[in-house]
Amino acid sequence: MAQFQAPKGTFDLVPPRSELFLAVRDALAAPVRLAGYGYVETPAFEETALFARGVGESTDIVSKEMYSFTTKGGDEVTLRPEGTAGVLRAVLENSLDRQGLPVKLWYSGSFYRYEKPQAGRYRHFSQVGAEVLGTEDPMVDAELVLLAIEGYRSLGLQRFRTLINSLGCRECRPAYRALLQEFLRGLELDPETRARIEINPLRVLDDKREDVQAQLAGAPLMSDHLCEACRAHHAVVRDLLDEAGVVYEDTPTLVRGLDYYTRTTFEFVHDGLGSQSAIGGGGRYDGLAEELGGPELPGVGWALGVDRTVLAMDAEELGGAAVHACQVYVVPLGDQAARHAFALVGRLRRAGIATDMSYGGRGIKGAMKSADRSGAEAAIVIGDRDLDAGVAQLKWLESGEQVAVPLNEIVQTLKEKLA
Ligand code: AMP
Repeated sequence: MAQFQAPKGTFDLVPPRSELFLAVRDALAAPVRLAGYGYVETPAFEETALFARGVGESTDIVSKEMYSFTTKGGDEVTLRPEGTAGVLRAVLENSLDRQGLPVKLWYSGSFYRYEKPQAGRYRHFSQVGAEVLGTEDPMVDAELVLLAIEGYRSLGLQRFRTLINSLGCRECRPAYRALLQEFLRGLELDPETRARIEINPLRVLDDKREDVQAQLAGAPLMSDHLCEACRAHHAVVRDLLDEAGVVYEDTPTLVRGLDYYTRTTFEFVHDGLGSQSAIGGGGRYDGLAEELGGPELPGVGWALGVDRTVLAMDAEELGGAAVHACQVYVVPLGDQAARHAFALVGRLRRAGIATDMSYGGRGIKGAMKSADRSGAEAAIVIGDRDLDAGVAQLKWLESGEQVAVPLNEIVQTLKEKLA
């Protein structure tokens, strides 16, 4: 074993499985790219205060899970635990909100949370995210839900469910919050949970412990206390999803791990993943821009977990779907042949054919073993005698069929024959 290991809660993506991660990232991003979302990339670390203010100081993410440190220059920075706060910061800093609304963006990258590692829960993980800023139109909420579902479906996933809820707004949530606090204060809870009632009572509803859940049976629900505007907003989102033929579960107990959500919230859960079942989630965050010192700029977005989507594909045995990188493997036998092979490999690659070759003057036996292992459909063997005749041997690896093809026709022949 090597002297060093990846830090606890992290893992490397190595071939061939790394191909699956790439395929998942691409597939999750494809629907939003088709829908006019622009690509945004922000730093992997930000000023700590951005997350403390944006994500909400009462959440576990901010209070326990952030990778925060002081730099040599004395700045307080944090490795990003989520994408929305950084994207919103970038929108405001670059005045994207003054160039026409809504601003529609997507991103893909690494995120960091100091969590207790377990299956599907890591300290370094990967998300594809999308955000729409500058409109309260419920159509956008529905659009985002549909685009996420499209991404999952394009990967062949079927055993996931869509949960939606409304968390109300600054008009109706305070009264509900007070009502919920009153209910929660009457329960038998440990001191930490009691403290949470005062800071973020909605999160108590999300407590996974059975004894707590049993006591929560009669808790007041936000859905029964929405104001007229929130009720209407939620009704439009539901109608649009119904019309699009999406099956979803209205889930009044759905709350999310971050403080900033308002109105629509949603989560995608997969039934083959055990306790870490959320493969993605998101919602509306109408007050967040102001919270970060910006103008009023309503927003809605989601983040889809790449790692857990890959696990979901494992659970549905879809992992083999990732394309193999190599199509053609070139085997030169002899120095002169190697020169020709090197040039041929270049021509094949420029023609868009994924090509690899054997290096270092290897013998035919070892080289053909590598050709098989590469997953290529065809091998091209070039010996010195072939060169004299101006041909190479094209061998189809599955059938073993072999033909001599003139060197200057190989690229064309392969372009035609490769599926
Ligand atoms: P969240 O913002 O916490 O809802 O995260 C959005 C999605 O990212 C989740 O639904 C998960 O799929 C994924 N995710 C969040 N935290 C982790 C983690 N620690 N390890 C792996 N995936 C995660």
